[in-house]
Amino acid sequence: MNTVKAFGAHSADLPLAPLEIERRHPGPDDVQIEILYCGVCHSDLHTARNEWKNTLYPSVPGHEIVGRIVAVGNKVSKFKVGDLAGVGCLVDSCGHCSSCHEGEEQYCENGFTGTYNGPAFGGENTYGGYSQSIVVKESFVLHIRHDSQELASVAPLLCAGITTYSPLKHWGAGPGKQVGIVGLGGLGHMGVKIAHAMGAHVVLFTTSENKVADALRLGADEVCISTNASQMAQYANRLDLIINTVAVPHTLDDYLRLLKKNGTMTLVGAPAEPHPSLEVFNLIFKRRQLAGSLIGGIAETQEMLDFCAEHGLVSDIEMIPMQDINRAYERMLKSDVKYRFVIDMKSLS
Ligand code: NAP
Ligand code: ZN
Repeated sequence: MNTVKAFGAHSADLPLAPLEIERRHPGPDDVQIEILYCGVCHSDLHTARNEWKNTLYPSVPGHEIVGRIVAVGNKVSKFKVGDLAGVGCLVDSCGHCSSCHEGEEQYCENGFTGTYNGPAFGGENTYGGYSQSIVVKESFVLHIRHDSQELASVAPLLCAGITTYSPLKHWGAGPGKQVGIVGLGGLGHMGVKIAHAMGAHVVLFTTSENKVADALRLGADEVCISTNASQMAQYANRLDLIINTVAVPHTLDDYLRLLKKNGTMTLVGAPAEPHPSLEVFNLIFKRRQLAGSLIGGIAETQEMLDFCAEHGLVSDIEMIPMQDINRAYERMLKSDVKYRFVIDMKSLS
């Protein structure tokens, strides 16, 4: 085992603080990555504070990891020492259920292993990217084809990018489609960029009037202030697909009404508490669908990274030292980040 420096939470009500964790020596199929940057996802905060009631402590969050490979096992064939590499939300899955066979390890029927917080259905803890290095099975490591200068801004693609790319692709975002993105945070701003690059007409719904100009710059064709009922009414029955990234409970009916006949709203935001009740007639009368979507599989994550490299897409980031993480969490809760915090891991050494 190697001892490495990390940052994590010892309990739900304590701020994140420095700690040391053990990483395994790379086995034959493993790569060891020196972590250069790690994005800060709202899921990190939900987990560190045990909001989903499943946190194993100590909790070392971080699943938007980019870095450089410093060692490889003797069976590793797709990576070599010196390569840039990425790790997202998954580091293992059963490998033999139908979802794994279909390349959708995130829906592994026996429970994928999260980059942090361990196997989905219980088991030994895993520690994420708020640390100096990580050892991961080659088959869960991604190639980074962006320019190395952009590396910090690539990190958020590993979760925010794939979590929006996957449902946009699954529900057919593209030319001729009217796509709504709800919330201009880490996920939402990548959703806007990716939906625009896919050729869809993009409408951004935000509670923050000060984000309108940014949303248009990022690729939205129209922006609606979601707290303004008359603006919302203008979008009734207009959208084919809505990707809802909001991290707190809210009235879903306000958005379901905006879907066309057969339209779908996909929830990716994962509030700790349930949404308020649903008016079924908003679904029944127009055969609308309410759906959910979880990150994306490894093959699709690579496809998304390559799509983003080809289209020149990266995240808009604010770089922070590791020591500022608790302040960053407070700002994220106030929607005060444009649009993803990324930790410069040099600050840990
Ligand atoms: P984030 O950066 O905090 O963005 C959330 C956005 O929601 C905010 O920027 C804000 O946008 C909007 N918002 C905040 N409070 C609101 C309110 N009271 N009413 C309406 N809108 C509000 O968070 P994130 O990292 O993008 O993550 C968003 C959610 O997705 C989290 O719950 C996270 O755990 C979840 N997630 C899910 C998956 C998955 O696989 N499904 C993957 C990653 C993350 P405006 O200022 O524009 O209103
Ligand atoms: Zn995430």
